[in-house]
Amino acid sequence: MNAAAPLLNLAPLLDVQHLCKSFRKPDGDQLVVLENVNLTLRPGEIVGLLGRSGSGKSTLLRQIAGLDQPSAGVVNYLGRAVTGPAHGIAMVFQSFALFPWLTVLENVQLGLEAQGVPAPEMRKRSLQAIDLIGLDGFESAYPRELSGGMRQRVGFARALVVHPSILLMDEPFSALDILTAETLRSDFLDLWGEGQLPIKAVLLVTHNIEEAVQMCDRLLIFSSNPGRVASEIPIDVPHPRHAEDPRFRALIERVYVEMTSRPRSAAGGGARNERFAGTGIGTTLQHVSSNVLQGLLEAVSEPPYDGKADLPVIAEEGRLEVDDLFPAAEALQMLRFAEVEGGDIRLTEAGLQFARGDTDERKKLFARHLITYVPLAAHIRRVLDERASHTAPKSRFFDELEDYMAEDAAEQTLRTIISWGRYAEVFAYDDSRQAFSLENPA
Ligand code: ADP
Ligand code: MG
Repeated sequence: MNAAAPLLNLAPLLDVQHLCKSFRKPDGDQLVVLENVNLTLRPGEIVGLLGRSGSGKSTLLRQIAGLDQPSAGVVNYLGRAVTGPAHGIAMVFQSFALFPWLTVLENVQLGLEAQGVPAPEMRKRSLQAIDLIGLDGFESAYPRELSGGMRQRVGFARALVVHPSILLMDEPFSALDILTAETLRSDFLDLWGEGQLPIKAVLLVTHNIEEAVQMCDRLLIFSSNPGRVASEIPIDVPHPRHAEDPRFRALIERVYVEMTSRPRSAAGGGARNERFAGTGIGTTLQHVSSNVLQGLLEAVSEPPYDGKADLPVIAEEGRLEVDDLFPAAEALQMLRFAEVEGGDIRLTEAGLQFARGDTDERKKLFARHLITYVPLAAHIRRVLDERASHTAPKSRFFDELEDYMAEDAAEQTLRTIISWGRYAEVFAYDDSRQAFSLENPA
């Protein structure tokens, strides 16, 4: 919380009420991405929005910034509905499209040009923003002369130069290497804590749990399909926060528990909202390779876990990328190789058997579970069995999936099923012909 805080009795800067957003799919149906999202942002707070990839976080930020219109509900900024690009709300993206032919100073000034600020004033404020964010001396440099971390600082300066009340940050550190991200995060927190940033509140979107607990005053846990705020966790550990602090660890654990708990069945939400439901062929599959699945099964089956482990502990152990961990745990649950609840993963009998098996036994077991529990795999296999040629173009399945999900989700789902199907030798896939076949399978 910054120097001006806590001012929680103040009216909210931002008040999002009952926001819904749907997109029209190619077949004319609606894809519901956000459903009844409610949140507020008050002066002096950094609020984190933590959710999976594809849950609608970026879509929500676009509605808040007024770059797009909600299908229903309202975004109130300073008590008035946002109906177009909102002055006073600025955005920091995962990476910025800096203009390569403009200097750092000129790139930062772009943020102000739209506002018609006089040239001398524009220059003065841009230089201030550049200094503030630690790029003093680089104002005449070109983007190609800067490291990735410095380029991201230019992006921060471009957002800060307009002196926004609210800074929306969309995974701003996720494209940086770990050390650079850490430095930029702590520089940002220092400036915030000293009250030096020309902003009143921050909404930080991230899928990095440590980052969220490190930076935020409270966290909103975002669920997927459709996206909505599932729960809220206050973070009351004083700054500077240290990852070794037991209170910090306990909060991380709690966030994991929230993120893996099955949602209370909301009125009308029902099965659609259920996190680990493996259902019809329209279930989106997160991209997890068969290698990552094997890695997680092995890690959990071995001592000291012997079949049951804490997801945060596995994450810390570093054998798997944190970003892979949830999708992998979810996939194992769908395949009935594991149960995931309350931040724990527990292998089923089949999961243990897989971990103990040799290559051949593993493939057979995986194939059986794939066909039994993942309807899309069974569907593809059935189509191939029935056709005289035993082949089918990818587009055949792509078109079907598009009835249920957006184009990129369909692409990702097919990529995943191809990886699993190939591993289990349930079907083959020819990349150059973009076609499934039964060529390799025994
Ligand atoms: P996140 O930022 O949480 O990863 P996004 O907000 O980018 O998620 O996307 C959420 C879902 O909305 C995805 O399935 C995506 O394909 C869909 N989506 C986003 N924008 C559009 C659009 N303009 N048209 C159709 N679908 C979209
Ligand atoms: Mg996003």
